[in-house]
Amino acid sequence: ERGYERPWYVRNSWKWTFAGAWLGSNIGVLELQGNYALHHKIFSDLGISSKGIKTAKDLDDIDGLVIPGGESTTISLLLDSFDLRIPIKNFAKENPIMGTCAGLIMMSKSIKGDKKVTPLGILDIIVDRNAYGRQIMSCKEPVSFRLNKQKIEINATLIRAPKIISINDSVNVLAMIDNFPVVVMQGRHLGLSFHPELDGVTIFHEILFNPSCKFYWTNLNKVNAA
Ligand code: GLN
Repeated sequence: ERGYERPWYVRNSWKWTFAGAWLGSNIGVLELQGNYALHHKIFSDLGISSKGIKTAKDLDDIDGLVIPGGESTTISLLLDSFDLRIPIKNFAKENPIMGTCAGLIMMSKSIKGDKKVTPLGILDIIVDRNAYGRQIMSCKEPVSFRLNKQKIEINATLIRAPKIISINDSVNVLAMIDNFPVVVMQGRHLGLSFHPELDGVTIFHEILFNPSCKFYWTNLNKVNAA
């Protein structure tokens, strides 16, 4: 099968002009199904431009991607009907991707006891799709964790959320609820069990997509909450 590669003239490095000015990032939000609208709101609050992604061509001029929450069975089917599966896997080789809830399921390597969803294998984790949903349909949990020694406190809204039940050694755990990871990072990729956009939580969008943030992923120390 033939992969899709971004043409040379849209690669990241070309965003630096010869005068050395940064032209700014443009981040894509996958708009096949689910809760994508509020991610654009977060980006606009942060002063980062964003656009909806529906085709492989849309990936050409973006520097990062959000796979939102929703229904992973539907997102998985639509990725194939819109021919986006291989383009997104290739995009992930050079660019950061953030997945929330169903988006985290899509980014996983495998899903416990579920054949309906074909994940992308971008994060080396195993998830149990509706583990939190069977116990509690939806809840808001206070979560506190540290980034480079600074304490961060947020609310995490879990909606029939996936539980991360296994992680590879190379996966970094940023935050946990009840001893299970709910925020994981591997290289340039970030996965969350919950919906930060529902609580106006902007820190994760900054970690991944705001190069001037002190917690930008390249500035983060190796942390492991486990
Ligand atoms: N339970 C959903 C799924 O399996 C995820 C729910 C969500 O994204 N809030 O895809």
